[in-house]
Amino acid sequence: MTTKRNLLGLPWPALTDFFADLGQPEYRARQLMEWVYRHGVSDFEQMTNFPKKLRQQLAEAAVIGVGQVIARQSAPDGTTKLAIAFPDDKIVECVILNYHHGVTLCLSSQVGCKMGCAFCASGLEGFAADLTAAEIIEQIWWANKELAPRQQRVGHLVYMGMGEPLDNYSQVLNSIRMANNKLCYNIGLRNITISTAGIVPAIRQLAEENLPITLAVSLHAPMDYLRDQLMPVNRRYPLSKLIPAVRDYAVATRRRVTFEYVLLAGVNDQLVHAEKLADLVAGIMADVNVIPYNEVAGLPWQTPSEGQVRTFIRALERRGVAVTLRRELGPEIEAACGQLRRRLQGEE
Ligand code: SAH
Repeated sequence: MTTKRNLLGLPWPALTDFFADLGQPEYRARQLMEWVYRHGVSDFEQMTNFPKKLRQQLAEAAVIGVGQVIARQSAPDGTTKLAIAFPDDKIVECVILNYHHGVTLCLSSQVGCKMGCAFCASGLEGFAADLTAAEIIEQIWWANKELAPRQQRVGHLVYMGMGEPLDNYSQVLNSIRMANNKLCYNIGLRNITISTAGIVPAIRQLAEENLPITLAVSLHAPMDYLRDQLMPVNRRYPLSKLIPAVRDYAVATRRRVTFEYVLLAGVNDQLVHAEKLADLVAGIMADVNVIPYNEVAGLPWQTPSEGQVRTFIRALERRGVAVTLRRELGPEIEAACGQLRRRLQGEE
C-alpha cells in the first residue's frame, strides 16, 4: 500500500520538489498554496486552474490534511473548542478565542505532556507523542474551516494548548515559520506567543532565533519550594536559572515577556506571594498575566474568590508591576488545557 503524501503544512522546498517530481513548474506549488491556505480547498477537482490530468495525478498521489474533527463544543461567547484526531490515535485540542482585536487560536504542540504540573489536566495521563509541524498547521486549517461561515480567520496564535512547546522545539519552530509564510497563513510573528513551563536552555536557544514572537512563562509560584511542588520542571530549572534566562530573552529580543500566574486558592494567592512575585519580576520588561484557576474534575485545586483575585492584583499594582487579568473565555466548555481530551477518553 502506498500512502498518499499530505501536502498540508508541507514547507515550500518540499512542496516544489513534490511538483517537480510530477514534472510540474514551481508556480504550481504557489497555486496549490493559494487554494489550500487562502481558499480552504482540499478537493483537487476544485482547483480549476490546474489541468485535468494534474488534478487526477494529485488525487492519486496526495491529500490535503490527515486529521478530522471528532468533537466540538461552543460557548455563548463564541469560544469554540475542537478535538482533532490524527492517525495513530493522536487526539489533540485547539480552542478558538474571539477577542475584540480578532481571532486567536490556542494550539496544542504535543499529545499529553511531560511536565507533570500538579494542577493541569494535560499531564495527568503523561506524555503520548510530539505533534509534527504539519499537525500543528492542520489545527489552523480546521479552525479556519470552523470560522469561514462567520467570515473570520485565525489572526493570532498562542501555543498554550496541550503540551510543552519548547519540549518539541524544532516542530514548533517549523510550524511558526510555516504559519508566518506569506503563501501559507501569513500570521505575523508579533501575533504569535509561545508559552513554556520554563525549560531554560530552550528559552536561551529561542532568544538566538531572532524571531519577534512573544514569550510567555508559566511562573505560578515565586518561591522554589512552592514551585517545586506545583511544577516539577522547577527542580531541574529553579527560579535562580529561570528568571535570568527570561530577563536575557527580553533584553536580547527587545520584546516584552509575559509571566503567567495561575491563582490557586490558598496556595499561591496570598499577599506574601504577591510581594515575592513583585521582587522577582522587578526590572524585567514584563507583564504579569493573572489567571484564576479553571477547576479540573478529579484535582483538588480551587479557584480563588473574585475578592481574593482583586486583592492579589492590587498588591502587585502597588509595587508597580504591569498586571493583566486573563478574561475567562468559554468556562462552560472546559477550555482549560487537556480537559476535552480527557472527557473524550472517558477519564472525567
Ligand atoms: N506547557 C506550556 C503551555 C501549555 S499550558 C506552559 O506550561 O506554559 C498554558 C497555560 O495554562 C500554562 O500557564 C498552564 O500552567 C496553564 N494551565 C494549565 N491548566 C490550567 C487550569 N486548569 N486553569 C488555568 N490555567 C491552567
